[in-house]
Parts: sequence; C-alpha cells; structure tokens
Amino acid sequence: MSEINLLADKIEQGISKIFAQASEQKSGMWNYALLFNQEKSKTWVIVLFFENKVQLKNSLSNGFCYSVHQVLKNELVLIDKELPISIRFDIGQYPSNETEYEQLLEKHTVTYDTLNNENVQREICSICGHDWGKHKLMGHGNPPQEGWMACPEEDCFCFLTWDLDQRVNKDKFGKLYKDET
Ligand SMILES: [Zn+2]
Ligand SMILES: [Zn+2]
Repeated sequence: MSEINLLADKIEQGISKIFAQASEQKSGMWNYALLFNQEKSKTWVIVLFFENKVQLKNSLSNGFCYSVHQVLKNELVLIDKELPISIRFDIGQYPSNETEYEQLLEKHTVTYDTLNNENVQREICSICGHDWGKHKLMGHGNPPQEGWMACPEEDCFCFLTWDLDQRVNKDKFGKLYKDET
C-alpha cells in the first residue's frame, strides 16, 4: 500500500469515528467524502454532506457544524499535526463517478482573491467569493473568544472558523465582532 493510501486510510478512520458520533444527533448529516488529488493540491478535502439546505443552514447557525469541525480537527491532529486538511459542508452525497469526484474537489479547493493588503481592506471571502463584511460571526460564550462564520447568501454554505488569538485576522474579526453587537 502506498504512503498516500495509508494516510487516506487513517484519515478515513478518523472521519468515520466522528461521523458516527455526530450523525446520532439527527442533524441531517448523512454522508461524507474524503477528496484528494495529489496533482492538483496538497490539501485533503473532507466534505460532510447534509440531506437538504434547511438542515445544513440550521446546522451552520446553531453550532452543530462548528462542533463537528472542532472534534474532527482534534481527531485528525492525532494523525499528523501538519496535515493540510480542509473541512467543508455541503448538500448532496458521495460522488458517484470520477467526474463528479473531480468537480466536487474543484468546487471545494477554489480560493478567491481577497484583496488583502495593507491599504485595501479584505473585501470578499476567500472561500465563497461573497461580501466578506456580511459574513456573520458566531460563537459560544459571552463574549466568545472563538467560533465560526457563515455567509448570509441563500445557497452558500461557506464555513470558516475564527479565533481571537489568530493574529492574521484579529483586526478584521475584532471589527466584525463590534459591528455585530
Ligand atoms: Zn458565501
Ligand atoms: Zn464565505
């Protein structure tokens, strides 16, 4: 078995363990896919599927997706701390053929130019390409120190986490948080 296959196996085990625990909660999360194409990207993409849009939107806003994301991330860190992993949420199910697999991978590896430099404020979300400033900042605790963000666009299931200690985005997050309150 190749190194890639061995690693894929370990990641798959991690996902299925967390998936089994999380899917007991009747959120509508019913399926997942582990996507990887060495030639295109070094990032392993995990897509967690929901049956429909309403279930996914609810799970994004009530914190379910966030807790799945955190628990899964912690599990995968045990395999390799430096493992480039991207956890995404979507509606649909496991791709039924190679073309669908590639399309799904492509969809979840696209990143948008965010115009992020000293003088120009970050304007669009690197994941979905929608207005960054309209993304809603959410979290547990009062005031929250970390949490998740979701895009308000109807058919967008973009998901990001934030953390006040992450220096990279601290200012923007700080500002967004203030706008929210
Ligand atoms: Zn969006
Ligand atoms: Zn977004």
